[in-house]
Amino acid sequence: MTPILRFLGATGTVTGSRFLLETDRARVLLECGLFQGLKELRLRNWAPLPVEASSIDAVVLSHAHLDHAGYLPSLVKQGFAGPVFTTPRTADLCRILLPDSGRIQEEDAAYANRRGFSKHTPALPLYSEEDAERALGRIRHAGAEPQEVAPGVRVGFRNAGHILGSASLHVSFDDGEAGDLLLSGDLGRPRHPVLEPPEPPPAVRTLLIESTYGDRCHDDSAALAAFVEAIVRTAARGGLVLIPAFAVDRTEVVLYHLRQLTAEGKIPELPVYVDSPMALAALRVYREAVAAGEPEIRSELRGHPEPFDPGGLVEARAVEDSKAIHDAALPAIVVSASGMLTGGRVLHHLARRLPDPTTTVILVGFQAEGTRGRRLLEGAETIKLLGRYVPVRADVVEAPVFSVHADAAELAAWVASAPRPPDTTYVVHGEKAAAAALRDRLASGASAGNVVVPSPGERVRLD
Ligand SMILES: [Zn+2]
Repeated sequence: MTPILRFLGATGTVTGSRFLLETDRARVLLECGLFQGLKELRLRNWAPLPVEASSIDAVVLSHAHLDHAGYLPSLVKQGFAGPVFTTPRTADLCRILLPDSGRIQEEDAAYANRRGFSKHTPALPLYSEEDAERALGRIRHAGAEPQEVAPGVRVGFRNAGHILGSASLHVSFDDGEAGDLLLSGDLGRPRHPVLEPPEPPPAVRTLLIESTYGDRCHDDSAALAAFVEAIVRTAARGGLVLIPAFAVDRTEVVLYHLRQLTAEGKIPELPVYVDSPMALAALRVYREAVAAGEPEIRSELRGHPEPFDPGGLVEARAVEDSKAIHDAALPAIVVSASGMLTGGRVLHHLARRLPDPTTTVILVGFQAEGTRGRRLLEGAETIKLLGRYVPVRADVVEAPVFSVHADAAELAAWVASAPRPPDTTYVVHGEKAAAAALRDRLASGASAGNVVVPSPGERVRLD
């Protein structure tokens, strides 16, 4: 049988990455992501899979972000009992992110039960912290060479430069005539300040490429200028700069830039609080990788004693440390998760600081539809936070210089860097407009073969 690829998620949307490969001998799930953002998307996490979880032989993860790995505990809970292959650093980061995701789901369910607003009584978490711990036990470290993950299916991991541990997945089949497949995973930037750029794609017959920013190009210098200007202005009026950041990677990139800008005298030296236990746990993993001089780390940073401390770094681990920031002397900078304001300690800072016009909120990453971050970006006058409506009087600045996703031009350049074009390129992992724009861009060149935006649930043969 020709291998079949089924698009189970990240199709017409930017979350829920799941791609099922089926051959005569094996079923392999590439990526095991959660749907996030709009409620209609989140509800899809509860929909049954089209195949029994127990019939899947192996899972392969490109990186640790929840929209790529966060469904794993649910899959294990449903009976998946095979191995999960990923890079050692993705495994480290999953150990931080997955139990936390379980804890948040338990808290959300408990909250819904207290308020009585769930349609289900009692409201149940998709999975618990304990489920997540159990799922971690299935993870196996990928080696440097391609390896057999299930009978007749081999996967190689190629550096994707997006976050620590991130990889593009190069799949080959032992049986029959099927050509190789490459799943880009999330692709980083050529100029990520901490990580080496993505490896160019190998020659494959089928390419799946992400399209988060398929419809725009980053203007790094304008974004950096906006970032600097916002900090200088806020410092001058004695306010707080609040930077909601994704716990993993974005925090490191923000700290790295703050350190550089402080050293260059472009911003004043300010106390910088990192207020997120998860971000601090991830920071420890990054520091280890830098200290160990791992090949994913930019060569000039390998072995660097501390590239992440702008001078006045304060690590707020305990809840009391977090609360103490409310009374801290200003001006100051707070970096806190989550990056799209969907949860985490950043909500407490927002509830307190959004009504204060001396505050500046700097949004540094992608803000998905349906999130508070997107509403803030779109100029909302009030935001619902912690059960009440909070007026927005703070400045809101967008500075996507810290995007760790390649933009449209960078995605196209990456595709074109393959030794020869694929027969077919599937554009995935983007909202509809972004995916369509990247399809048009790729189709106008000669480097991507036949370019298709697949529909959710679509099955294709890998002839
Ligand atoms: Zn990602």
